[in-house]
Amino acid sequence: MSIRKMTGKKRVALVAHDNKKSELIEWAVYNKGALAMHKLFATGTTGKLLETALGQPVTRFLSGPLGGDQQIGGRIAEGKIDVLIFFWDPMEAQPHDPDIKALLRLGVAWNIPIACDRATADFLLTSPLMYEDYEIILPDYSQYIKRMQK
Ligand code: PGA
Repeated sequence: MSIRKMTGKKRVALVAHDNKKSELIEWAVYNKGALAMHKLFATGTTGKLLETALGQPVTRFLSGPLGGDQQIGGRIAEGKIDVLIFFWDPMEAQPHDPDIKALLRLGVAWNIPIACDRATADFLLTSPLMYEDYEIILPDYSQYIKRMQK
């Protein structure tokens, strides 16, 4: 079994689709104090809005449809993102639906906490584990890793 250590200061990635942006910003402003204890990352437009609303630096990737979701997915695979807050829109298809699926898949593949709606985001942010060291149990991918080392 392998583990990855997360510190009390989490690297949190935030993404919101257009119809969900106001909800995410409202949630983030309400939780400004808690979010200030972590390092924030976001897709382009979401990140710009968050930075303005929170007055806290946000590392911004490309806009989602231009590859931002994939960039965050890549960081998750590299162990560089600890938590994903992803307010995706359940009522509208997106041009980058495959990227959204890929991002959610990688989050699960690497066993990171994911919140896709406001209630789950509330539960996540109020968990003591958000502020403590935490050892994430990584799924056993040793067969895949061995295969590529041969
Ligand atoms: P955006 O991207 O923050 O640049 O709008 C989010 C998305 O649509 O995935």
